[in-house]
Amino acid sequence: MKKKIAGALIIVSLLILLMLILAEISVFEVPSNNKPLNNNDSNDKKEGINVDIINMLKMVDEPLFFNYLETFVNFGHKYTGNENCKKAGEYIFNEFKKMGLDVYFHNWRFIRFKDRNVVATLEGTDPNSDAIFIVCAHYDTVGGSPGANDDGSGIAAMLTIAKIMSQYQFNHTVRFIAFSGHEVGTYGSFAYVKKAYAENENIVCVLNVDMVGNTLENVNKLQIHKTDRTEWISQFTQEIIEKYKEYIEIILEPIPCITGADETSFLLYGYDAVMFHQPHSWYPEFYNHNPGDDISTISFDFLENVTKLLLATTAELANKSIELQIRIISPLEGHLHLFDRFKIKLPGFNLYGKKIRGMTYIRGGFSVKVDISTNEEIDVVYYLIDDGLRLGTDFVNSKPPYETKISRLFLLKRHIKGLHTLSVVVTTTTGKTARDEMDIFLLSLF
Ligand SMILES: [Zn+2]
Repeated sequence: MKKKIAGALIIVSLLILLMLILAEISVFEVPSNNKPLNNNDSNDKKEGINVDIINMLKMVDEPLFFNYLETFVNFGHKYTGNENCKKAGEYIFNEFKKMGLDVYFHNWRFIRFKDRNVVATLEGTDPNSDAIFIVCAHYDTVGGSPGANDDGSGIAAMLTIAKIMSQYQFNHTVRFIAFSGHEVGTYGSFAYVKKAYAENENIVCVLNVDMVGNTLENVNKLQIHKTDRTEWISQFTQEIIEKYKEYIEIILEPIPCITGADETSFLLYGYDAVMFHQPHSWYPEFYNHNPGDDISTISFDFLENVTKLLLATTAELANKSIELQIRIISPLEGHLHLFDRFKIKLPGFNLYGKKIRGMTYIRGGFSVKVDISTNEEIDVVYYLIDDGLRLGTDFVNSKPPYETKISRLFLLKRHIKGLHTLSVVVTTTTGKTARDEMDIFLLSLF
């Protein structure tokens, strides 16, 4: 009996605490894309041009992606969950199937919307790699628009890349995803990422392709929307342009990640993601979110070059060697951690319009645990808050287990509360380094 009462008391106090915490967090604006990473610092520097990739690039031709785009546009407007949207999803599913890819519908439900993402996997051949590289686009449109550019262009590019890559083998797994629920609040990608994170998927890099069908004055300029943490993807893509310049004509324009499109869902859960997007997409001649977003507006030469760039980039990434990787496995993204003892999964809805997806809240002291994969000898693991300025030299390991405990007292003494970046850095005896980071919100209630 006493046990029951004690149990009930704990539950009631936890609920009260949760309410207090929610009341507190609603006051703060949480930045939406200043998040974590799985950056691998051991980039392969320019080696020779890959003959297989040149052959793949030669397979990108207009009839192939024109056919995907035309079929997609002919379904009409595809508002999340409507009949046309369902048919378009089925079409994409069948195309993936024809390519021999492993494909499934990922059903999701969010507030008043429910629909499905189409997820296809090209399994990697290296049994020692659990790395996943993702190419994605969205297949829903705003009401009334056939969505040739937004995002038929991305869907056509992704299907073309999948079709060609499915005829080859790669070390790492590549996943092709068509999201729905984008235009109503990026719900499809958010639901997918939440699931992937819960299943501990090692997603190394996400290339989101959204609106890549138009150019101004026939200049093939393409934006890459990136964060500091995903700068490495931008640099890698630029290297691909230089390496295959005989075949790819693109001027890459790196800009800050500002739109909050589907790549943001991944960034908020700690995965490295970028978006490829045409410049000036809001210009009236591009019929953004308008019934005029039809196939007649598409510049096919531009779309072909974008498709080639993303194909070569994905193919090179999928064979890239990953010699050293570090991942934070505790605290968990999107959870509330209490006194280093309890963790509660948060729903991650937009509370009063404040984006709290993937945010990690911590009350009291906490442990940081990491997972490191490498064949080399690990030298030191560093645990940092705000790039080391807050924690000093107190938190390092030179041997396993690679974890540390940051006590409540320590946090109090250093006046550390509110929003901070937690990062971990590993060095090997040969001088390689890798890093991971996440945003944490340290709650101070009393
Ligand atoms: Zn879009």
